[in-house]
Amino acid sequence: MGSQSVLCPVCQGVVPASGKEAYTALRGRLIVTNGYCAGGCAERAEAAADQVRQEEQAQVVLPLRQEVPVRVAR
Ligand SMILES: [Zn+2]
Repeated sequence: MGSQSVLCPVCQGVVPASGKEAYTALRGRLIVTNGYCAGGCAERAEAAADQVRQEEQAQVVLPLRQEVPVRVAR
Protein backbone atom coordinates (compact mmCIF):
# COMPACT_ATOMS: atom_id res chain seq x y z
CA MET A 1 0.00 0.00 0.00
CA GLY A 2 2.91 2.34 -0.60
CA SER A 3 2.92 5.24 -2.99
CA GLN A 4 4.66 3.18 -5.68
CA SER A 5 1.45 1.99 -7.37
CA VAL A 6 0.22 5.56 -7.51
CA LEU A 7 3.36 7.01 -9.04
CA CYS A 8 4.68 6.50 -12.54
CA PRO A 9 7.98 4.60 -12.20
CA VAL A 10 9.50 6.69 -14.99
CA CYS A 11 8.62 10.32 -14.23
CA GLN A 12 7.40 9.90 -10.62
CA GLY A 13 4.21 11.70 -11.55
CA VAL A 14 0.81 10.53 -10.35
CA VAL A 15 -0.72 8.15 -12.86
CA PRO A 16 -4.44 8.43 -13.75
CA ALA A 17 -6.66 6.76 -11.16
CA SER A 18 -7.89 3.30 -12.01
CA GLY A 19 -10.95 3.47 -9.78
CA LYS A 20 -12.85 5.43 -7.17
CA GLU A 21 -10.84 3.87 -4.35
CA ALA A 22 -7.67 5.22 -5.93
CA TYR A 23 -8.64 8.75 -4.89
CA THR A 24 -6.98 8.91 -1.50
CA ALA A 25 -5.54 11.69 0.63
CA LEU A 26 -2.09 10.34 -0.14
CA ARG A 27 -2.79 10.56 -3.83
CA GLY A 28 -4.00 14.14 -3.51
CA ARG A 29 -0.82 15.07 -1.70
CA LEU A 30 1.35 13.39 -4.31
CA ILE A 31 -0.43 15.29 -7.09
CA VAL A 32 0.53 18.51 -5.31
CA THR A 33 4.16 17.48 -4.78
CA ASN A 34 4.86 15.45 -7.93
CA GLY A 35 2.20 16.53 -10.39
CA TYR A 36 0.52 14.23 -12.89
CA CYS A 37 2.19 11.74 -15.20
CA ALA A 38 1.85 13.08 -18.71
CA GLY A 39 1.64 9.57 -20.09
CA GLY A 40 3.73 7.83 -22.74
CA CYS A 41 6.55 7.38 -20.25
CA ALA A 42 7.04 3.70 -21.07
CA GLU A 43 7.57 4.57 -24.73
CA ARG A 44 9.95 7.39 -23.82
CA ALA A 45 11.92 5.15 -21.46
CA GLU A 46 12.24 2.55 -24.20
CA ALA A 47 13.45 5.16 -26.68
CA ALA A 48 16.02 6.37 -24.15
CA ALA A 49 17.20 2.80 -23.56
CA ASP A 50 17.50 2.37 -27.32
CA GLN A 51 19.68 5.47 -27.49
CA VAL A 52 21.91 4.17 -24.69
CA ARG A 53 22.27 0.88 -26.52
CA GLN A 54 23.29 2.70 -29.69
CA GLU A 55 25.83 4.81 -27.78
CA GLU A 56 27.29 1.68 -26.20
CA GLN A 57 27.69 0.12 -29.62
CA ALA A 58 29.24 3.32 -30.97
CA GLN A 59 31.81 3.28 -28.15
CA VAL A 60 32.83 -0.29 -28.98
CA VAL A 61 33.32 0.71 -32.62
CA LEU A 62 35.42 3.79 -31.74
CA PRO A 63 39.04 3.08 -32.79
CA LEU A 64 40.47 5.12 -29.89
CA ARG A 65 38.99 2.70 -27.36
CA GLN A 66 41.58 -0.03 -27.07
CA GLU A 67 40.62 -1.27 -23.63
CA VAL A 68 38.14 -4.07 -23.18
CA PRO A 69 34.72 -2.50 -22.49
CA VAL A 70 33.90 -2.68 -18.81
CA ARG A 71 30.79 -4.69 -18.16
CA VAL A 72 28.47 -3.22 -15.59
CA ALA A 73 27.36 -5.83 -13.09
CA ARG A 74 23.60 -6.03 -12.74
ZN1 LIG B 1 5.15 9.13 -16.24
